[in-house]
Amino acid sequence: MLFRLVDGTPCFEVFRLLNLELLHFLEEAIDKEDFGRQLFTAGAIGDACWANENTLDKFQKLFVDLSNADGDTKQQLFLAMQNNQDLEVFFGNPQRGLLDFLNGDCRSSLKELSSHLYSATKDLVPVVAAAGGVNINSHFSDYRSLANNGNVCKACGMEKLAVIRAGITEQRQWRSDYDHQLCKSKYPIFAVHPNNLIPLCSVCNQNAKRAKDLFNSTDGNTRLAFYPYTEEARDFVGIEISNLLDPEPAFSVFWSTENETVLDKLKTWDEVYEIRNRVEGQLRAIEDIIVDEINPIDEAHLIRRIQDEARPIVEDTLKRKEWVFWYQKLFAALELVDLAPFAAKLGFIQEQGANGGEFILSGG
Ligand SMILES: [Zn+2]
Repeated sequence: MLFRLVDGTPCFEVFRLLNLELLHFLEEAIDKEDFGRQLFTAGAIGDACWANENTLDKFQKLFVDLSNADGDTKQQLFLAMQNNQDLEVFFGNPQRGLLDFLNGDCRSSLKELSSHLYSATKDLVPVVAAAGGVNINSHFSDYRSLANNGNVCKACGMEKLAVIRAGITEQRQWRSDYDHQLCKSKYPIFAVHPNNLIPLCSVCNQNAKRAKDLFNSTDGNTRLAFYPYTEEARDFVGIEISNLLDPEPAFSVFWSTENETVLDKLKTWDEVYEIRNRVEGQLRAIEDIIVDEINPIDEAHLIRRIQDEARPIVEDTLKRKEWVFWYQKLFAALELVDLAPFAAKLGFIQEQGANGGEFILSGG
């Protein structure tokens, strides 16, 4: 995460209850030989799972596959889930082979059940009612309020979570998807763990991250990742400029730390969300950014405005305005270099625009 989640980020009660239901089910299944109502909690969530045919089928399939597996599989699965409920501890010491003991059938029925709890069971009317009537749209609205996390993606700072439309009720507003930090294909026991689900922008969630494993890189190496509630990258990143006067000046993101653990987490964050590729891609068109953000009149104005834009950004602005974190870093880098030759080049572009394409150099 570029920004950690704020303290007091609302927990989605539906996920908390469904997570407890799954844990309860796995515990009760250990010594039961028959599938029945007694495997579920006595309250409303148990009733809802029992009464919903699609949800019930998936619980039953898992129960059958676990019962057909080796003797202590049920117990092992329950303990794997129960002993890893604190995700902050898990991020600090990832159990990468947590479910390796499961056979193929158990693994696939567990994935099916947990995916279904996430995609369908969470929206059942009695489930939402048991969670105090707060459905996912209400939770999202609360999550992205300015008092909490705001509407800018915490992972990248480059995109809004979702566009807000006037005259549309909270329930009908668009919302972003909730990203499974620990992907549900590899860590199905966390598919409805409330701390594992974080609203992210569609670029981060759907284009960049998809089912990447936070703790194993695609080239097979183990790695660590920032825990989104307590750790963030923002203090360890900067932008540096080389060859500003080249036809295509280069801007690169750098890590401003030599701490090995933090560097490992920064690299994971970068690989998972393609942070450098996205920032450096955006900054390729530096002259366009200068015109779009500053629209300088002359060199003195350019320098004054760059100094303005390099000032620290207030927290609420970081929650409201996409790209602002990265542009502040960009302008802070520009503030450090001699801009006179660059300004002359820009002046030409400006005058050209203002004079219908005529070749007139700016007088500065
Ligand atoms: Zn994002």
